[in-house]
Amino acid sequence: MRESAEYICRHQNNNDGPEGREILDIGVLGGGTSGLLTALALKKRRPYLNVSIIQSKKIPIIGVGESTVPMVVSFLHNYIGLGVGDLLKNVRPTIKQGVRYDWGKPGDYYFNAPFDWDVNDIGLIGSMRLTGSPNGATSQAILMEHHKLPLWLGPNGKVASQMDRYRFAYHLDNALLVTYLEQEALTAGIEMVDAVIVSADKHPQRDEIVALQTDDGRKLSYDLFVDCSGFRSTLLNKELEVPFIGFEKSLFSNRAIAFQRDHGGDIKPYTSAITMDAGWSWMVPTRHNDHCGYVHSSDFISVEEAKDEVVERFGEVEFLNTVSFRNGRHERCYVGNVIAIGNSYGFSEPLEASALLQIARQVILLVDELPRTKHDRSTEQLMNGQAADDWDKLKWFIAAHYQINNKKQTPFWDVMRSEADISGIKPLMDLFREGAPLSMRSPWALEAIRKVGIPYYGLAGFDTIMMGCAAPHRLLATGESDEIWRQRYRMASTFMMSALSHDEALAVFDEDPDLLMVAGDFNASENHRFTTLGQ
Ligand SMILES: Cc1cc2nc3c(=O)[nH]c(=O)nc-3n(C[C@H](O)[C@H](O)[C@H](O)COP(=O)(O)OP(=O)(O)OC[C@H]3O[C@@H](n4cnc5c(N)ncnc54)[C@H](O)[C@@H]3O)c2cc1C
Repeated sequence: MRESAEYICRHQNNNDGPEGREILDIGVLGGGTSGLLTALALKKRRPYLNVSIIQSKKIPIIGVGESTVPMVVSFLHNYIGLGVGDLLKNVRPTIKQGVRYDWGKPGDYYFNAPFDWDVNDIGLIGSMRLTGSPNGATSQAILMEHHKLPLWLGPNGKVASQMDRYRFAYHLDNALLVTYLEQEALTAGIEMVDAVIVSADKHPQRDEIVALQTDDGRKLSYDLFVDCSGFRSTLLNKELEVPFIGFEKSLFSNRAIAFQRDHGGDIKPYTSAITMDAGWSWMVPTRHNDHCGYVHSSDFISVEEAKDEVVERFGEVEFLNTVSFRNGRHERCYVGNVIAIGNSYGFSEPLEASALLQIARQVILLVDELPRTKHDRSTEQLMNGQAADDWDKLKWFIAAHYQINNKKQTPFWDVMRSEADISGIKPLMDLFREGAPLSMRSPWALEAIRKVGIPYYGLAGFDTIMMGCAAPHRLLATGESDEIWRQRYRMASTFMMSALSHDEALAVFDEDPDLLMVAGDFNASENHRFTTLGQ
């Protein structure tokens, strides 16, 4: 069906107009990343809609959320249609090729989890057998290791880009991103309403919102309300009282201290996740410095102790805000005429940096399947199923990262290893122990494994993290000689080490954004396919 003329025509020609539609006015509560992205997608993909963003600068946005995954890049450019050059100029992103985990084994050990983990062009089994880590499994892992990007300077002085052959994501400065998206929203014709919502008028019989009440006495009515109000969850939780399902049995962190530090000009093409005494620290490289945060559990460390540990570990830093959060999701994201997207629906602490991806996945489903009538409940059913499944899978995957991390022997990590509930992913971990990588088991086994459960980033992602963390396993045999693997590794290393450095590549992209090679058809995009999950 996907290749049929009808299918291609239906998805390429955006000829689905307003005729016969009852939902034409949409109010998006919240002007953070989720509100702006939702409003932009609705307006750009369905220009006949009247879209308003209701927000107040009196209630600040969360202001973190800077590391992304490949689909977010495709979502921004190919789904919403933001210009590559515009975004480069206004947001000044750096490129992320994966995550470097200071995680797993004690001491100086670390491993790279590149986005091409399912390509396996050099070989994960050989890398584990001969180097003891996944760092030699793929070309992108080597690029990460040497702070390079896949661009080469040719003898004619011209740069050849292979960015389209390697999935990549952005590191986005949150303040610059929000300012840029606000400008794009205004240009797209989205109405900006500056007001604090103090309450909502509800339908007397049904779980529906009729109007929002503003602090200056106005009533705002729409056909559909999108709740992007962040952790306040103003409509879904406060007004409609949809129950919250906490993840506290699996994920123990509940606070983050943001800080920044000098990177001395070394802009790493990856996010770092560094094990700390009572949690971990992210490190997101921007053009000027590293944006960082210590994610921890307040039951195990105070803010002052955490700051002391940061200084001891990283030297001179500038501390920014401290953010408290709760891990979990609401029972449903779509109730009546309200849909919650972003933190107002759910959140899992930021290891694996997947919140913007979750937002994109919810937004795409909403926009593509926008209900035609007020009685059409099919989109509600689809969105409630997908959002719950996504967040639950992400919870299990992150909890598994914690449970197998032997980097530190501190009270926090001892409790994580012994008490974190990983029941939703344990069956896969048991299978992994008896023959890994799971993604290289026989086709018949794979079919059976997928029935046991597909982890959040698919089997190849699961394998890389489990291998990198040295989770117990019996390594599958390949029958290939060590020398053959070494030859592949040497060839790839020689080629990758001749590539441009990350900062050289950023200068090239600033000059010629086409060399990023992301523009294209959203559904066909390699970056999009990577994170449609469920592989
Ligand atoms: C510590 C931490 C690190 C993170 N790191 C990452 C990461 O690396 N990658 C990633 O993808 N995600 C990350 N996230 C998640 C990410 O920050 C959020 O998912 C994203 O920013 C979306 O936030 P939001 O728009 O839902 O909420 P907010 O940014 O909180 O926006 C809420 C909006 O609602 C408005 N509002 C609320 N109530 C009212 C009211 N009554 N009246 C009017 N306006 C109202 C506010 O004014 C604001 O505009 C992280 C989150 C945390 C907590």
